[in-house]
Amino acid sequence: MCEARQGRSPLLCIVPPQILRHLARGASRPLADWALHTLALSERLRGARTVLGSLASLATTPAGLKRRTVYDAGHLERLPGKPVRAEGDPATRDVAVNEAYDGAGATYDFYHDAYGRNSIDDRGMRLDASVHYGRNFDNAFWDGRQMVYGDGDGTIFQRFTKSVDVIGHELTHGVTESEAGLDYQDQPGALNESISDVFGSLVKQSGLGQAADQADWVIGAGLFARGVRGVGLRSMKAPGTAYDDPRIGKDPQPAHMKDYVATHEDAGGVHINSGIPNHAFYLAAVAIGGRAWTKAGRIWYIALRDRLRHDSSFADAARLTAETADQLYGPGGAEARAVRDAWQAVGVVASPAPGRTSEDRVQAQRRVRRDGRAAGPRKRRAARGRA
Ligand SMILES: [Zn+2]
Repeated sequence: MCEARQGRSPLLCIVPPQILRHLARGASRPLADWALHTLALSERLRGARTVLGSLASLATTPAGLKRRTVYDAGHLERLPGKPVRAEGDPATRDVAVNEAYDGAGATYDFYHDAYGRNSIDDRGMRLDASVHYGRNFDNAFWDGRQMVYGDGDGTIFQRFTKSVDVIGHELTHGVTESEAGLDYQDQPGALNESISDVFGSLVKQSGLGQAADQADWVIGAGLFARGVRGVGLRSMKAPGTAYDDPRIGKDPQPAHMKDYVATHEDAGGVHINSGIPNHAFYLAAVAIGGRAWTKAGRIWYIALRDRLRHDSSFADAARLTAETADQLYGPGGAEARAVRDAWQAVGVVASPAPGRTSEDRVQAQRRVRRDGRAAGPRKRRAARGRA
């Protein structure tokens, strides 16, 4: 589920398929049945996603004007459901409705205030969301037009509107779709996932007014029900440590290229290998200091908007974010150095040998630029494939 297949558009879900497969295989009923149903339903929805196509073209709305509508799917599997709260309406008695409304507003305001962006498509796209989708539905997703939230099964997952970073994550898939359009497969797919985690976390951090070193850098904190051993779905600060529970398995995310996971599942491990660029962003943000969305976030945002392409690799992202930092804050400045150091620390860019001068480092950067992609990861993957 929630992964690309040839000729089919991806459905962009927050819960990675390996967690649901683990549940479907190992958990007792009815939990296993619910996980299986979530998997099957997402597969069916992905077919519909192909029909919907990409972002609907809509009339431009002036910047700063939010247009939110929340629908209640009434536990059915039909979208969007009954409209229950429109822009400007007072809060309802339904906490999921209010969280979906507020989370969409927080995400809109974040992009507008931090980067001057007018909604998902920068043209004032409507922000529609459906809550109470299906029964015990263990996921939230962006279907190319709207957000959809399940209520969770109550045993492993709680309602998916609970974490504002999940809302920011999903809506950022729309931003990525209308900008770089990163393919949802292999490294471009893992970058797509990572960018959603980056801005999802920044939506949360800006709401809390946190500096980079105060944030938890966890995606989906608060989603797990009581008793689940884990802090959330992913940790950008310490990939691979977010959860470890017999029912859902252990967080499989690597933090370094040496641990890159070559797999056919999850569109080439898009929710797994995203740990590497996630950690690079975390390292850059903490090294730059202050509020992560002001400088590190701006570097990533401008790179996403103006430089990344549909097939960009991790090495491309390393080069393009470093060039963006040069452009925004001056070549060789502290920000650009922090970005280059971060990509080196996660092994995407080779570290210069000890004693090399900064001129050597510039030459090395130029070589990476000429080559387009770093040879390391692809070679490593090919070697693994043969093993
Ligand atoms: Zn995602």
